[in-house]
Amino acid sequence: MYRARLFAVRHAGVFERIYQVVERLMIVLDPVFSRIGYSRVERPVAAVEKVVKTVLFDCKMCGQCVLSSTGMSCPMNCPKELRNGPCGGVRPGGFCEVKPDMRCVWCEAWDGATRMKNGHQINEVLPPVDRSLQGSSSWLRVAREKAEAQRDADAARKALAQAFPEARTLEPATTPLAEEPERRISPN
Ligand code: SF4
Ligand code: SF4
Repeated sequence: MYRARLFAVRHAGVFERIYQVVERLMIVLDPVFSRIGYSRVERPVAAVEKVVKTVLFDCKMCGQCVLSSTGMSCPMNCPKELRNGPCGGVRPGGFCEVKPDMRCVWCEAWDGATRMKNGHQINEVLPPVDRSLQGSSSWLRVAREKAEAQRDADAARKALAQAFPEARTLEPATTPLAEEPERRISPN
């Protein structure tokens, strides 16, 4: 497992892209999950997630995956389970102060982040892990959260269109209702 972890960090850019695809797939499947019931799909999805992520990242199923912000190095493998790091005790050569044979999980994280398109995310301070979510599916949690955010955005767009019916008739682009295609052009 330790070697798999190092492999994941060395190929963090590839895993980042794979993760983005998985995330999009889970969001697309949100209506299906909602219809079946998230409580019903939780166990099978969590079981698959556990197998896949244990093999690839030595995942501990914390339920709040942050790999995209930690260079694909799982912070739950840090003996102190720090969500921001490294701690002040890193040994020479980047080894862990608690497990001297292991590379510091957070030194690996910063290395991995340099290979990722969104590696700058590692600069964001992460909140402490919520132990009550241990064992649950992070994939499903992300699907629920992002789909909900999308619904909120859709509701706000509809409310705006309803507030300006005349403007919408004259200039439909001012209050668009149709679903937007994925942005290829930077807004700046
Ligand atoms: S951050 Fe949590 S869910 Fe992600 S790989 Fe580590 S233990 Fe697993
Ligand atoms: S040296 Fe790194 S892996 Fe070890 S306890 Fe500190 S932050 Fe965690």
